[in-house]
Amino acid sequence: MKIVWFLKSTPLDEWHRYSKVLTPSDQETTKPSRFLSFHSARVFPLDMNTAVQLWDGQLSLITTPIPHVATPNEVLVKVAFSGICGTDLHILAGEFPSSKCVILGHEFAGVVSEIGSAVKGISVGDRVVINPNTNCGRCSFCQKAQPHFCKSGGIRSTVGIWRNGGWSQYCRVPVETVFTIPPQITLCQAALVEPFSCIAHGFDLLMPLATTSDILICGSGIIGLLWASLLHFHGYRKVTISEVSERRRGLASGLNMGYQVVHPEVLVHNAKETNLSSDGEWGFDAVIDCSGVPTAIEEAIKWLRCGGKILVFGCCPKGSSIKIDPHTVYTKELQIIGSHINPYTFPKAIQLVKDMAEKYLNYDKLGITVFDLPSYQSALDALSKAEISKAVYEM
Ligand SMILES: [Zn+2]
Ligand SMILES: [Zn+2]
Repeated sequence: MKIVWFLKSTPLDEWHRYSKVLTPSDQETTKPSRFLSFHSARVFPLDMNTAVQLWDGQLSLITTPIPHVATPNEVLVKVAFSGICGTDLHILAGEFPSSKCVILGHEFAGVVSEIGSAVKGISVGDRVVINPNTNCGRCSFCQKAQPHFCKSGGIRSTVGIWRNGGWSQYCRVPVETVFTIPPQITLCQAALVEPFSCIAHGFDLLMPLATTSDILICGSGIIGLLWASLLHFHGYRKVTISEVSERRRGLASGLNMGYQVVHPEVLVHNAKETNLSSDGEWGFDAVIDCSGVPTAIEEAIKWLRCGGKILVFGCCPKGSSIKIDPHTVYTKELQIIGSHINPYTFPKAIQLVKDMAEKYLNYDKLGITVFDLPSYQSALDALSKAEISKAVYEM
């Protein structure tokens, strides 16, 4: 699936040579009728920017002039690797809001190719990752150090959802979104920093939790697999992973962490057999839901031991509902914890990816497949059919 691109071997100074002959332009998006497709040629033109753009629910491969920084505080990133997230699938299915016309991609890593006049601490040539979520710094939530609830920022301003993102050779971003990465992380691995930043926030919310705890992860898509890896990295050994899909259970077992991997029906059966908390022994001290399936959450709450907690990490459909017995919540002192995006966790995520890269972040083991950008439809198809756990574009 990988293709050696013409541009990949082009040194930085050459990018600038080519970009300088162009008129700086903000026209990073274009109408579908003007699209130029390079599916057949499979070579990106040197002096243009190729991207996958969402326009009114439809994706197309477009080429536009290479963008340039438009304000003193912007950075232009030459994207190297850019992930497809479950959120992108929800956007394409019309279940999650986004700009009507936008280049998607909020999980990406690349090399800085241009900086605005006021940018400090970031240089051309730096290897970077982008935190797609910005915040205003002034609203009541920002003033309480809760930037993820920002009234105009947070999920309301995400790069790759509300402004052009990383399914593109070049991406113009505000300087505050740019983080340099250490040499130990490859740009390929760095595409996982954004998902890890969300997991790191969830992990903080879940703490404290003894390493002897029995933990259930619901769902072994890529997020469940990354959670499993993070728990193992932190010394948790009594982890069960429940997953409906046989193929995904295979991926979870293939991590070889000694974790129990089961179909959820096995847990339903076990719960009945042991009559649940009659002796308080069977069950889990913590559940991390990565499935986003309301019924899975409803069931898993019943499996919590006294003092147990559930982290609602997967994104359930808006407006969905579950039944909870508040008497049980009261008598068992249960905690239900929500986790939403990634406030202040990017530095932590970079550190995690650095420390976990060698042992845990093997793309093959995690079921991550790399595609070239023109193959975006194949990538999306493979992902929505759950043939792979994650797709990442290599530019
Ligand atoms: Zn995402
Ligand atoms: Zn704010």
